[in-house]
Amino acid sequence: MNEVSEPVYVCPACHARLSRADTDLRCASCRRSYPVEDGIADFVSGEYYDRFTPGARLSDEERAGLEHEIGGATPRIRDFYVPRIGDARRLRGRTNATWRVLDCGCGNGISVDLLSESGLAAWGIDPSALRKWQWRERKWRERLSVADGSSLPFPDGFFDAVLASGVLEHVGVVESRAGRYEVRPLPTRDADRRKFLAEVLRVARPGGTIWLDFPNGAFPIDFWHGDRPGAARLHGRREGFLPTSEQVRGYLRALPFPTRIRFHGPHRRLQFRQVRSHWYGRVLSAPMRAFLRLMNVRPFRFLAGTAANPFLVVEISRENSEGSPVSGPPAARQVDRARDDPRSRSGASGRTRGRGQIRKRAPDPPTTARA
Ligand SMILES: [Zn+2]
Repeated sequence: MNEVSEPVYVCPACHARLSRADTDLRCASCRRSYPVEDGIADFVSGEYYDRFTPGARLSDEERAGLEHEIGGATPRIRDFYVPRIGDARRLRGRTNATWRVLDCGCGNGISVDLLSESGLAAWGIDPSALRKWQWRERKWRERLSVADGSSLPFPDGFFDAVLASGVLEHVGVVESRAGRYEVRPLPTRDADRRKFLAEVLRVARPGGTIWLDFPNGAFPIDFWHGDRPGAARLHGRREGFLPTSEQVRGYLRALPFPTRIRFHGPHRRLQFRQVRSHWYGRVLSAPMRAFLRLMNVRPFRFLAGTAANPFLVVEISRENSEGSPVSGPPAARQVDRARDDPRSRSGASGRTRGRGQIRKRAPDPPTTARA
């Protein structure tokens, strides 16, 4: 397991192959170098999204938060994404060992251990100083690197699947947890989000799949960002923080990649672990579970992309450059004629395709994808 010395990483600035020199990865093309410590490559040149001094004492609250995350990563990967990745892999007739998966914004990195244990070839990135420090404990740490989701150190088309859980909403906004939780969008929010999506699509191969999940901006309550874990935070659509299904469709239409998009219900993705510490969580979690399960039943699947769903799970298939589908059932092709009518997009199948109608690439402002 000595991946870092193998020619996997490319220079995130110029995409040239990197070579190993002592404790660095070096780019012969643009002459940048990137440090590697404990097997973990660092591509952000000190531009972490957080502030963390290795060796600093964590508060009891921070420690409890990190412990709690371990229980969150396991069901997300083991119960939700591994079965879905397995379905896609079997459709292609490929073995697990050759199926490459990136967890973009992998946080504590446990996902990479879990994906690897399930036999997949997994990598993870996060632009965090705290995570870099945490990752020293990970078994598969040489597959973890400190990198920005909008500037990934991987070659074009490298991955069969890319996961980004709870990432997109943090792109292009400023959040503050000093006192009350506050968030406001940057003027570059949409350009930043398009840039992030363009980058995850770049590293996915044609025929590969991107999985995004995040709280639904069209659902009026956010249980994931607030003053306390699991607390209900009321928000309006004009807040400009949580993405909606229509926004994601709009971002994809502006990118130069032919894609097909589908929304899934978050049954099994949501475990109601934090919200159950509140009375409304205990009261509502059983009916909510039943409702989320209903979204997996055929006549109700369309709900997954609507304001009735508190948490969006988005499957984006990257098609080949001619735009002909290289994966997915033929039925998905039929929605092509409806693509200029946004209202028809959330039809019963929840499928549509956002082919690159606008061939223009979004401007490239500096951005940080927080995980
Ligand atoms: Zn370079």
